[in-house]
Amino acid sequence: KPELPSNFIQNIITEDLKQNKNNGRVQTRFPPEPNGYLHIGHAKSICLNFGIARDNGGFCNLRFDDTNPSKEEVEYVDSIKADVQWLGFDWDDRMFYASDYFGRLYDYAVQLIKSGKAYVCDLSAQEIKDYRGTLTEPGRDSPYRNRSVEENLDLFERMQAGEFPDGSRVLRAKIDMASPNLNMRDPVLYRILRATHHRTGDKWCIYPMYDYAHPLSDSIEGVTHSICTMEFEDHRPLYDWVLDALELECHPQQIEFARLNLSSTVMSKRKLRILVEQGYVNGWDDPRMSTLSGLRRRGYTPEAIRDFCDRIGVAKSNSIVDIAMLEHCIREDLNARAPRVMAVLRPLKVVIDNYPENQVEELDAEYNQENPAMGSRKLPFSRVVYIEQEDFSENPPKKFFRLAPGREVRLKHAYIIKCERVVKDETTGEIIELHCTYDPETKSGVNADVRKVKGTLHWVSAAHAVTAEVRLYDHLFTKDNPEDAREGVDFKDCLNENSLEVLTDCLLEPGLAGALPGSRCQFLRHGYFIIDIEANENRLVFNRIVSLKDSWAK
Ligand code: ATP
Ligand code: MG
Ligand code: MG
Repeated sequence: KPELPSNFIQNIITEDLKQNKNNGRVQTRFPPEPNGYLHIGHAKSICLNFGIARDNGGFCNLRFDDTNPSKEEVEYVDSIKADVQWLGFDWDDRMFYASDYFGRLYDYAVQLIKSGKAYVCDLSAQEIKDYRGTLTEPGRDSPYRNRSVEENLDLFERMQAGEFPDGSRVLRAKIDMASPNLNMRDPVLYRILRATHHRTGDKWCIYPMYDYAHPLSDSIEGVTHSICTMEFEDHRPLYDWVLDALELECHPQQIEFARLNLSSTVMSKRKLRILVEQGYVNGWDDPRMSTLSGLRRRGYTPEAIRDFCDRIGVAKSNSIVDIAMLEHCIREDLNARAPRVMAVLRPLKVVIDNYPENQVEELDAEYNQENPAMGSRKLPFSRVVYIEQEDFSENPPKKFFRLAPGREVRLKHAYIIKCERVVKDETTGEIIELHCTYDPETKSGVNADVRKVKGTLHWVSAAHAVTAEVRLYDHLFTKDNPEDAREGVDFKDCLNENSLEVLTDCLLEPGLAGALPGSRCQFLRHGYFIIDIEANENRLVFNRIVSLKDSWAK
């Protein structure tokens, strides 16, 4: 049996199980609204809800909270299913839609009306707001509050039959217009809305509100622990009121936890949609997005995201998690399993003058020095190679241990070379190529220890290299907290203009030709990369998942 995580929700469940509450059953649910793609914040909720079910011998339902037809689409339903599965969780045959309960929710509403606990109100949305009062002032009763049961039943039935225009009437709970909790001041339960629902079509023209549909959906499904984020703490009295007013046998316990906020990113579907629809990114799965489909395309593994969710833990106080922690998790995962290969992103030509023309050597090169089990490949070496432009300096600063005139470096898996001469473009002064000599006595794996040099560079053989496009990413936002409204800036004002850099003439070792989309590797000294879904047999495209430099301070 796996060790139980220690957090306050698990403690509640452990205690409930001890007392045989709910007959020892644990039932949770993950209830996304299909109005956008899932993001890393949802991953926290998925890991929590499915994790609790798994760890306590219970079940977790996937429930689409589809009570708001104007914003919901099948595309989102499909993407949510794919993302939950990709993260590694399985709902088996427990997938539900709140819209499946529309009939029962309607019947429950009739029951509330009959017991005098709900009424039809003709105030406009603005009037309802005005009547509600404020935190310091009690609200006022609606003039329609004391309609008879018969009149309410008749009006509600006619609302449902489509006799009244959108927005003209609502069904409200009759609770307490003086409650200190604004959510309890006769909240709206049903509204009239003519919108085609992605599942029920035009069958309904009244739709239940979240605060009414949610507790009832939980109860219908036999949920024992209804876990949600802190914003709903103030809604809990209403959650309980609905279930108590209907005297339902299954009364789940709502428990709130702090939502995940991540630095340098936004996490609300509304804002993510703006980024997509206004073209700031290239779709929901843009590798810079905090969506699960974006992270997947970027190259994140489900293991790294689950590890991240374990590490951040579950608590009640809101905070912003440093995105460096997420990056640390993927780095750690890939460090263990990604083969190390060589790619030159900004090539500089190097001619090795004393290496025989037309000679090609096949060098032995292990995929991971620290893990021989990963095996090795043969690397072609020849007279002309490419190194990284930034690995050469004509006037090297202090502590520059790479190549410079008259200096030596080792070419990884190959030989020590010495820079003899620099060739420049006569008009622009730009460095075109270097002429070097190699020392045949210094072959890696054979005579590697004859002489030590400080710098080791990655390289590719010019005659054998394959060309690729490489996409380098930076954070999408320049500020730690782009969602912080207090600073009076729109989140779009702090978009990072340099969040994407595309390099089209990168040169890679030949073994990477034909690698499939989704394959991951480490480019020595550059970081971890994945082959993008846009790649095909004629075109290599890599996304940088994360650089090698870890800025996460534990
Ligand atoms: P958003 O505000 O981003 O649109 P939401 O809460 O409206 O999110 P839902 O589809 O209703 O999105 O969320 C499904 C579940 O995921 C809910 O139980 C919600 O509490 C949880 N969830 C959403 N965002 C986060 C987050 N940032 N951290 C943890 N859980 C979250
Ligand atoms: Mg929601
Ligand atoms: Mg939302």
